[in-house]
Amino acid sequence: MNIEELITQFLDPNHYIEFYKVPHNFKDYTIANDAYTIIFIPRDEKYKESKEKTRFENTINEILNDIEISKFKPLPKINIPEQIICTYCDGSGKSKFQKCHECNGEGIVDANTDYNTYYDLNCKTCNGKGEIILRVTEEKCKTCNGIGKIEPGDFPIRIENMYVKFKFIKKIMNIDNIEISTNMKKNILFFKAKDIKGAMMGILKT
Ligand SMILES: [Zn+2]
Ligand SMILES: [Zn+2]
Repeated sequence: MNIEELITQFLDPNHYIEFYKVPHNFKDYTIANDAYTIIFIPRDEKYKESKEKTRFENTINEILNDIEISKFKPLPKINIPEQIICTYCDGSGKSKFQKCHECNGEGIVDANTDYNTYYDLNCKTCNGKGEIILRVTEEKCKTCNGIGKIEPGDFPIRIENMYVKFKFIKKIMNIDNIEISTNMKKNILFFKAKDIKGAMMGILKT
């Protein structure tokens, strides 16, 4: 995996905040982050300084400082959670969303009885979602990308005394000589390898 592919995993292209969509330069680093994970690589001048820098500056400095003072050890072997059947296509790999005909995609309906009109009831046909899933179709299921199975990204992976979502750990588990440090108090996992470092949030205990 090249460095660009690596840092792209730490972005959220659909986020409304620009800072989470594209890599930014900050001090000696190029940063890629979403609201849950962040990676620092050596500064690459092809990226811009962030306009929203001041808003995130304190957090970023704190993370860098924490990484500096933490003790690291190799990332333990991760047992990759088993794939689960895609509930959207029922494993067939084919599905398509269609606007609910009952509520016209609104998710809510009005109901009349002899005495009363009830407004804004949850549509029973689509369960209030406004759309229904068609399984008799040739369209590739967008949820599983036609594979019929989904990797359980939200599966909690235990690392020392912390739990981290598999989809976060997956971003770093193939980096050579990756080391980690867990900070229980802040519920953050720090990582580093050669000239890369970063952090990811643990799963909040409920
Ligand atoms: Zn599917
Ligand atoms: Zn409906």
